[in-house]
Amino acid sequence: MRRISRRQFLMGSGVSTGALLLPPVVPGFQQVPTFPLHKKVGESRTICPYCSCGCGLLIATDESGHIINSEGDPDHPNNRGALDPKSISVRQLSTSPHRQGKVLHRAPGASAWEEMTWEDAIPLVARRVKDTRDATFETTEDGVTVNRTNGIAFIGGAANNDEDCYIAIKLARALGLVYIEHQARI
Ligand code: SF4
Repeated sequence: MRRISRRQFLMGSGVSTGALLLPPVVPGFQQVPTFPLHKKVGESRTICPYCSCGCGLLIATDESGHIINSEGDPDHPNNRGALDPKSISVRQLSTSPHRQGKVLHRAPGASAWEEMTWEDAIPLVARRVKDTRDATFETTEDGVTVNRTNGIAFIGGAANNDEDCYIAIKLARALGLVYIEHQARI
């Protein structure tokens, strides 16, 4: 008996279901697709960014590099091809018009956000981190060396990969941060 993979089964059943749902072609009328069709030009392996389960995704992209399809990676040990509905919407990360693509800054006391360049934003963040650390750094408590700052907190997310986390946690610990958290725990 010919064995088929889970992915082949899902693709086959999807095509069958689609064929059943299509309205019959009426002579004289041309059937048009309901959704715009995008040409798939690439497929990549990645990790779902929504929670700490770290499910593997296969992402299809079109000519413009935007996501046109996402499905579970059958070879990933965490989910073995399964996905929940949240991760299906991952394409919106790349196509949503609400995606924030520019740095916005709201000055202290201001009510409005203003656009800022990365060249201005990065030194501003660095300055604030340095000033806050200097102002809040504690070397000892009750005679015990602590070398910490409680004035800054750091939060990571499920989209950070191991290398991101390694660098980020090195920086956070070197600064003396204590409040270090992860999106999935709060
Ligand atoms: S597919 Fe669902 S369970 Fe898996 S990482 Fe994404 S949100 Fe979490």
